[in-house]
Amino acid sequence: MGVRICKFGGSSVADANQLRKVRAIIDECEERRFIVPSAPGRRAPDDDKVTDLLYRAHEAAIRGDAIDPIFDRIALRYRQIADDLGLDFDLEAALAEVHDRIAAGAGAEYAASRGEYLSALLIASFLDRPFIDAAELVCFDAEGRFLAEETQMRVSSRLADVEAAVIPGFYGARPDGGISTLSRGGSDVSGAIIARGVDADLYENWTDVSGLLMADPRIVDAPDTIAVLTYRELRELAYMGATVLHDEAIFPVREAGIPVHIRNTNDPDAPGTLIRRGAEDAPPTGRITGIAGRKDFTIIALEKTLMNAEIGFGRRVLGVLERHGISWEHIPSGIDTLSIVLKTDGLDDRLESLTAGIEAECQPDSIEIHRGIALIATVGRGMSHVPGTAARLFSALAEAGINIRMIDQGSSELNIIVGVENADFERTVRAIYDRFVTDTAS
Ligand code: ASP
Repeated sequence: MGVRICKFGGSSVADANQLRKVRAIIDECEERRFIVPSAPGRRAPDDDKVTDLLYRAHEAAIRGDAIDPIFDRIALRYRQIADDLGLDFDLEAALAEVHDRIAAGAGAEYAASRGEYLSALLIASFLDRPFIDAAELVCFDAEGRFLAEETQMRVSSRLADVEAAVIPGFYGARPDGGISTLSRGGSDVSGAIIARGVDADLYENWTDVSGLLMADPRIVDAPDTIAVLTYRELRELAYMGATVLHDEAIFPVREAGIPVHIRNTNDPDAPGTLIRRGAEDAPPTGRITGIAGRKDFTIIALEKTLMNAEIGFGRRVLGVLERHGISWEHIPSGIDTLSIVLKTDGLDDRLESLTAGIEAECQPDSIEIHRGIALIATVGRGMSHVPGTAARLFSALAEAGINIRMIDQGSSELNIIVGVENADFERTVRAIYDRFVTDTAS
């Protein structure tokens, strides 16, 4: 029998009704052996996530205030679920312990982790499966840095003979037993870590959307869902702002070649999005996989006659960036030109000293600064080795009257990135979507 890891996000475990859907999903397939839940999330847009309430309870304790007004709301969430599901399990003892430790000043990470801990205890009781604490499996060092190799060994030995279990997401333990958490949204990462540790056949990530969309639905009306994409395509799209999965969740499973299936708990029959390797070998089709982009980049455009023959020019430019602690996003270049694309956010007042440094060390003929640039990445394994893809893209933008300020094509031919004025961002995304998706469908 195969092994699947099923991670359920906060909205999937937000109340008893959601948990009934979770059980139906689990019951449907016996390969769904390991369940990794989040803490209960929002039930409505104005609701609070349990994790946020736990952080607030901790802050109240540190200020010396009573935690009860906040903790009562947390306790109520779990009591309602346990009552609705008629669970026969000592929730009160677990709540009391968490309450007392937070009130006594336990750390923020301990407090935050209890959302997943209590969630997993409830779900284990509901599904009648053993609870295995993530503190036994996910290892951090004394400074709270995640230890990938040690964790993998722990997970594979501890779960080797376990038939099925519920394992809380989001946290693990340091060598002294203290709790450390992953970054926010980290249950996605926990699911991936467990998947890798047990060498799962599939990592199912159950959420409240039916997969990754080809473009931002706030920009493109009802975009198609991406059926299949590769880890690399996901990385390109996620870097450019497409989100559905925690950024770091992909690394453990990618290394092991375990596919990730994004599914919708509220619509389990929807096909979702499958992320896997191997799709790279698919024949080139000219189709794109997705479009993503972000606003607010700054371009420093350098020009210098005979730049191509000047050994060390690029190194000196990058040296100035490094000394300013600034990481660059893209560096498209020509024979006598080099542009450095930087995120505007975080540049602060360093831009002036940065350009002065480049001026002094590289003596370019000119330096121009372009602010307010948006980057749009058109990503697709089907685009590589297909003549005319770039022409289609550029003609779509020309016909829409959009001026392209920068072009960068990754060496993998997996993406083409264009830089346009911030004001043209949405129009650019729509023009590309229409040319590659709408026009081809009709
Ligand atoms: N509960 C944690 C958070 O809200 C982790 C997660 O849900 O993935 O960030």
